[in-house]
Amino acid sequence: MPIDATLPYDDQNIFAKILRGEIPNQTVYEDDWALAFHDINPQAPLHVLVIPKGAYVSWDDFSNHAPAEEIAGFIRAVGHVARQAGLVEPGYRLLANVGGHGHQEVPHLHVHVFGGQPLGPMLVR
Ligand code: 5GP
Repeated sequence: MPIDATLPYDDQNIFAKILRGEIPNQTVYEDDWALAFHDINPQAPLHVLVIPKGAYVSWDDFSNHAPAEEIAGFIRAVGHVARQAGLVEPGYRLLANVGGHGHQEVPHLHVHVFGGQPLGPMLVR
């Protein structure tokens, strides 16, 4: 079920539990600002989720409320993950779902990094 991205942050969401180490994950990158790990249900040969360490419901919440240093750190982490995976030359896709129409399911901001094969058109028609 998609979430309502206007609700307050719920610290019982699954990614908050991953950040606290309460649920295992396959980490591919971590720094002061972000954690990146393999999606449990990959939609491409490489499907990594990058999440900020701060408590933000969505891209809307993050872009509206996060300090500039935190935004820069997170964006740099997303780029680092793609470079580290060798995705720059073949190309890749970033996706951040927001709220109901975006079909966001986990209420902690995450950017999907997809790669490893041609990804086709942007949306299913
Ligand atoms: P959304 O639809 O919110 O943009 O994407 C949520 C993503 O989180 C989905 O791709 C889903 O497979 C992934 N996911 C949900 N629960 C877990 C989990 O416990 N561990 C990992 N690694 N990924 C999860």
